Amino acid sequence: MNKQQRTKDERQRTNPFFALNYEPALESLGSEYSDLVEPAKFSQYILRFRNDNLLPILGLNSATVSDRHFLDFGGSFLGKQSRLALRYHGYQFGQYNPYLGDGRGFLYGQIRGIDGQIYDFGTKGSGQTPYSQSRDGRLTLKSGVREVLVAEALHNLGVKTSRCLSLIETEAIARDGKKVRGAVMVRLSRSHLRFGTFERLEYYDRPDLIQQLLDHVIKYYYPHLWQRSDSYIRFYAELVRRIAQLVAQWMAVGFCHGVLNTDNMSIIGESFDYGSCAFIDTYNPTFTAASFDRQGRYSYRNQPSVCRWNLTMLQRPLAVAIPISEMEAALESFPELYTRYYHQQMLQKLGFVRLSFLETEELIDLTLQFLFLTKVGYHQFFSALRQKFTPQWRENPDSILQDLEYLVSGEEVAILKRWCWFYHQLLLERSPEEIERIAQYLQRANPIIVLSESEIDRIWNAIGEHNNWQPFIDFSELIRG
Ligand code: AMP
Ligand code: MG
Repeated sequence: MNKQQRTKDERQRTNPFFALNYEPALESLGSEYSDLVEPAKFSQYILRFRNDNLLPILGLNSATVSDRHFLDFGGSFLGKQSRLALRYHGYQFGQYNPYLGDGRGFLYGQIRGIDGQIYDFGTKGSGQTPYSQSRDGRLTLKSGVREVLVAEALHNLGVKTSRCLSLIETEAIARDGKKVRGAVMVRLSRSHLRFGTFERLEYYDRPDLIQQLLDHVIKYYYPHLWQRSDSYIRFYAELVRRIAQLVAQWMAVGFCHGVLNTDNMSIIGESFDYGSCAFIDTYNPTFTAASFDRQGRYSYRNQPSVCRWNLTMLQRPLAVAIPISEMEAALESFPELYTRYYHQQMLQKLGFVRLSFLETEELIDLTLQFLFLTKVGYHQFFSALRQKFTPQWRENPDSILQDLEYLVSGEEVAILKRWCWFYHQLLLERSPEEIERIAQYLQRANPIIVLSESEIDRIWNAIGEHNNWQPFIDFSELIRG
């Protein structure tokens, strides 16, 4: 063994990521769901982001995990785990696409977190696979930076999401005839199984595998349902509930996923796969995040209906185990569940926990009307409410959101006044204790720091133009709130 090999072995042996307790949950199902692949070898590896906040869940201590450990793990993938390019299909913009699958990533391994749950290490930008088609299997550094920021922002807003564990800059890659900076990312997610994982099995007419995968999903991700006589329909009903909750959260926090194809819909109902996504700036229901979404299929306002459509499509493969009529009945509750979660989320953003249904509807309608008609930003409004609220608004209605008055004119003034009048009525109905709590709710639900597009541009420009990572680092810290 030469010296170089010895050093490499030593590095593998002492790396805490490689010493984790890997649990090959998906791999144990056999070779029908994935293909073994090799990671690309890059000419350089520069660690740009390490998410130390994720280390405790892995049972690791940031003091004992060095940058070298991150590079050997999240760039070179030295410790040999399974590296499975996952097989899946999906409906993309409404059309079935059987040419999908992990084209630039793989499942490196699964481990049990200290919370007892199983987690995936999934890669992005780690090289070609049998599913790359003619593409390069790479990730641009710019997309990697966006994904880190979006995932952290959503997590800090209370949305269940995959998160990036590391982002490593690699060699330059070609995009649109130009050379751009490339990267490889590792993300930590509860699961990389998608609606499209099931859809592919139906396409190949494999009810046996659908059944096996369904059991696997329930056992690992819905364990409270495992081995109940009605576990299959309960699983579907719970997925409907989880997706209704997730999309309600996206809507309330002003997030547009952008590409809600069924291959980007997680079977456990968590948010993941951030490509062309964005937080809205002003309240514009027809906002689309992906430039190629010309029809607006995945616009901000369409997200609930598209998620419902995706859940309908999932009934086809699941029909091998669950009667369609039962799934249809479970899906009927989607609008009601969605409204319930959306109301809950919006009420908190407005400072309340419980109002009557009619009051809730009216307050949300007035708020959205105001935001739609004016140029007051969506987050700007809630952040102003958080910062300006005082219990004195109850005694002095003229002082409510006074600061916003200079931003509005003409008809907009009337709608702001209506909003203030209604908010005041609600305050009059509250007890002093409830009024005291409003400030807390407002603080909890409305971040001051928001990941706006201009913020992302500012962060990226510093990196792109001056290789200055400070704004990125500062923002990732600040966003924690
Ligand atoms: P995404 O838009 O990231 O959800 O990807 C959609 C599909 O395209 C997935 O099958 C990806 O693996 C694949 N894909 C996207 N970009 C690339 C790339 N640069 N190289 C290979 N496959 C890719
Ligand atoms: Mg995807």
